[in-house]
Amino acid sequence: MSGTTDAADVVARVPPVRKELFIAGKWRPADSGATFDVTDPATGATLCAIADASPDDGRAALDAAVAAQAGWAATPPRDRSEILRRAYELLTERTDDLALLMTLEMGKPIAESRGEIAYAADFFRWFAEEAVRIDGGYAVAPNGRSRLLVMRQPVGPCLLITPWNFPMAMGTRKIGPAIAAGCTMVIKPAAQTPLSMLALAEILTEAGLPDGVLNVITTTHSGAVMAPLIADPRARKLSFTGSTEVGRKLIAQAAESVLRVSMELGGNAPFLVFADADLDAAVDGAMQAKLRNIGEACTAANRFHVQREIADEFARRLVARMTDLRIGPGYEDGVQIGPLIDDDAVTKVTRLVDDAKARGAKLLLGGAAVEGTGHFFRPTVLADVPADAELRREEIFGPVAPIFVFDTEDEAVAAANDTEYGLVSYVFTRDVNRALRVAERLESGMVGLNQGIVSNAAAPFGGVKQSGVGREGGRVGIDEYLEVKYVSIAVP
Ligand code: NAP
Repeated sequence: MSGTTDAADVVARVPPVRKELFIAGKWRPADSGATFDVTDPATGATLCAIADASPDDGRAALDAAVAAQAGWAATPPRDRSEILRRAYELLTERTDDLALLMTLEMGKPIAESRGEIAYAADFFRWFAEEAVRIDGGYAVAPNGRSRLLVMRQPVGPCLLITPWNFPMAMGTRKIGPAIAAGCTMVIKPAAQTPLSMLALAEILTEAGLPDGVLNVITTTHSGAVMAPLIADPRARKLSFTGSTEVGRKLIAQAAESVLRVSMELGGNAPFLVFADADLDAAVDGAMQAKLRNIGEACTAANRFHVQREIADEFARRLVARMTDLRIGPGYEDGVQIGPLIDDDAVTKVTRLVDDAKARGAKLLLGGAAVEGTGHFFRPTVLADVPADAELRREEIFGPVAPIFVFDTEDEAVAAANDTEYGLVSYVFTRDVNRALRVAERLESGMVGLNQGIVSNAAAPFGGVKQSGVGREGGRVGIDEYLEVKYVSIAVP
């Protein structure tokens, strides 16, 4: 493990960023003056203190979004599009600073933060293109006596809540389509990684976004601040990305006012490798699907199901690739494995690995946290994992690859679908017929076929079962922010 970084050096490197709430186009402290610290998960150093919003601040943010809604909905689509395009360009130009900021607050290696900035910016480019393509319909009623006009209008003020693991992209995936559709919004990033969102608010302002369209509140009281907003009849939409546990609670709160919801929730992705697969491609895909974001991704391969004939060889190659990866603060040169987000994450991953070992899994690599400062966990491979291991059902959210063995295609599909989650599945095979057959039978919103990454701004991202409701990105991404209105026209 590398470890040359001094905490004071780290703090000195934080790019300049606003630390207040952003409401109605103004930066201001929390009403109470309260602040909270944002820390570097690699060293525990305090990076800075930022405003800690109260429920009153939250209400002020919704007031601003409501006040701006009519004007924003009436703004020409081309103008909305051009703001998004400018923001895309600014994000791209400032990749270096933004990537460093993200790595400092979240921990991922700097190269991955750059990748996330590119992915995040791409949602703005994509929705800049979609903003001017919001269409409707016109039809002659079957009886010929009326005309059916269909229009699509912005849903209205939106509440957006995002997690810590992709601090920028989970925001732009919601803000992009909301801006394109003509909706105003209040966004609440996770308390652990708010700095990227504050930087994004500055960029959108520079790109020309009018006051009140985007309002950002940072808080350590997420439940107390958001619950009254979810109950407020002026809010018309809740879009949440985070855990299934919190998502369930928010759906229940939203049910009270029949608030429209989009939910991007947890995953438990199966990664199927058939004996006819290109094994090199499968191992490359496994490295991406497992280690991207230090394993802290909703799309992370949570369990590898490998056909018996090749299971030992797959394990051998995966261990060889995961051995000697450089562990350390993500902003140090050459680091491949950054810290997990906090102590709780290390405790959870340790518990899952210990449980699998206690049930008979064979430890091939790693298996424990790194001693000392920060929240680092060693890349880990487990073989012969029994089906009752807890990590087969729970999201691991760490660099741990458990390998299960299957014999038949039916067995592989049944194992893959044996979960309440259904976000993404990965399949490696050279047999086209099998690929399509299995892809059709998998109960997930997305399938990676012979590849370990599916994220793409042009594609509909989302899950089935308890992985969520709705889609972000692609042609359908904007639909989440539009209502359909039908006008019946009498034709005498
Ligand atoms: P989380 O604990 O559910 O938190 C997500 C967001 O919800 C944070 O902003 C959090 O704020 C806020 N929150 C928590 N409790 C709340 C409440 N009672 N009312 C309102 N807001 C509340 O999830 P996380 O640990 O940040 O993120 C990891 C999870 O997100 C994983 O399960 C992962 O699979 C999932 N995820 C899903 C996708 C997807 O697209 N499907 C993408 C990325 C991540 P505070 O943290 O500040 O309290």
